[in-house]
Amino acid sequence: MEMDWRFERNILLLSLVAVWFVGWLVGHSAWFIALFLLCYVVVQFYRLQNLCDWAQSSDPESIPFEQGLFGQLAYQIYQSKKHGVTQKINVRNQLERFKKLISIFPDGVVILSLSNEIKWFNDRASALLGLKEQDTAQHINHLIRFPKFTRLLSQAEQDGVLVMAGPVNESNLVAEKIEIRVLPYGQNERLLLVRDVTKVERANQMRKDFVSNASHELRTPLTVLKGYVEMLLTDTAADRARVEKSLQKVDQQVSKMQTMVDELLLLSKLEEAEIDKATDVINIHNLFEQLDSEFQPLSKQKKQPLRFDIQPGADLKANKNAILTVLRNLIANAIHYTEQRGEVRVSWSINTDGQGVITVKDTGKGIAARHLARLTERFYRVPENNIMHKNGTGLGLAIVKHELERHEAQLLIESQVGEGSRFQCLFPSKRVCHTA
Ligand code: ADP
Repeated sequence: MEMDWRFERNILLLSLVAVWFVGWLVGHSAWFIALFLLCYVVVQFYRLQNLCDWAQSSDPESIPFEQGLFGQLAYQIYQSKKHGVTQKINVRNQLERFKKLISIFPDGVVILSLSNEIKWFNDRASALLGLKEQDTAQHINHLIRFPKFTRLLSQAEQDGVLVMAGPVNESNLVAEKIEIRVLPYGQNERLLLVRDVTKVERANQMRKDFVSNASHELRTPLTVLKGYVEMLLTDTAADRARVEKSLQKVDQQVSKMQTMVDELLLLSKLEEAEIDKATDVINIHNLFEQLDSEFQPLSKQKKQPLRFDIQPGADLKANKNAILTVLRNLIANAIHYTEQRGEVRVSWSINTDGQGVITVKDTGKGIAARHLARLTERFYRVPENNIMHKNGTGLGLAIVKHELERHEAQLLIESQVGEGSRFQCLFPSKRVCHTA
């Protein structure tokens, strides 16, 4: 830069001397110098204009001057222009990266102005709140018209949270429950975060239902127990037979409570249990023999034949105790919910898809269709069937379902009121072990 300035200055001085000399020769040195300076200013002005035009243009590559002072100046402008473009590209890339990052966020993000105008939102927010591209610049409280939501937005500076039903988006509900949080963001904006909390809310509801069901189920036998104990304490003159009868009732209630607590413990263990990876093969014939001898007394008492059928040639890869638990529950139910002289059949077969199927079929009371989907819920009992098995806990089928899930198996329930029920356990073909 220094060199070019000196060079430019020297050229100017030499030119001035030359012009003065020529002017002195012809006797008009002052006019010559004035004319030369005028030309010099015009040329420099023209070059400056070129430089300005180029500096404002969007094409930094077409540098107008390569040499001299203007060349240096153009080069400096070129450098800072290039630096500016690189910086712009960097900022744009960073912005794109940030947008991409937010767009893959599992939660919805909406940027709002202080007057609740939508400035930007990601795909998840669009799905959870039903926002569309054309909603940008609209007031969000005009699109989501829930009083609680409007109240949340009006808490200007605070960080507020709200759980509400997810809006129905084009007749399709994306999330049953959503959590909305509004946070101050920058100076003139707010950030609205949306999260699908359907599962968390369901789990909370289940926990509440469970506590209330369990306390309700335990309270009934406890009330009966208390009644008998009080009676025994006050009625000191009661004869041996009466005392014995009362104690038998107490024993029944204690057994029911014990069963319930054992089943609850088993259920909580099953909830944490992993998929059964046992490679043990259960001999179905031996399994059915064991169940036959366990249940014959009960089926004889109810004068119901209990039959076992086996399609030969295959056994089952599973945990024997788990399958015993499943079948004990299903067979006990079939016997309990079938009148005297009904029939219970247990069978093992392989279906056309190669699945191993254990079926427990009865000719009992049957279950109305409206109850079928809820049978495996904890404590769910069919009110009209309760009378047939007063000691039932409503936990048996929940245990069956969990044990089967642990064996990658499915439970199919079919039933007709007055005709009977069929419970099928379908095990995947990989768990079938062909023996013949
Ligand atoms: P429970 O201890 O009450 O038998 P379960 O979970 O085993 O509990 O069964 C839930 C409900 O399903 C029962 O209360 C009963 O009403 C109904 N149920 C189960 N199996 C049968 C069946 N084979 N026939 C008719 N109803 C049944």
